[in-house]
Amino acid sequence: MSPVRTCVGCREQAPSNEMLRCTTDGIRVHFGRNEPGRGAWTHPLEACVTQADRRRAWSRALKVAGPLDTSALLEELLVKNGHERAV
Ligand SMILES: [Zn+2]
Repeated sequence: MSPVRTCVGCREQAPSNEMLRCTTDGIRVHFGRNEPGRGAWTHPLEACVTQADRRRAWSRALKVAGPLDTSALLEELLVKNGHERAV
């Protein structure tokens, strides 16, 4: 059994193997399953990432004072989900 994590976007709980762990350099949010430091978990869904963004949940979850840029994370998500990147 994987440990259960709470999605920063929709606040639903799911096993960590169904979620993405994200970390930050203080400016951007990016994938970081094995990176040290504080992590935030989200479903691998654009809707959850943007929902968390709107509620500033990323900053809260990652203990950063300012707003965080999730554009890199969204791009990683599109690649992961196999979509063509819209330029
Ligand atoms: Zn979610």
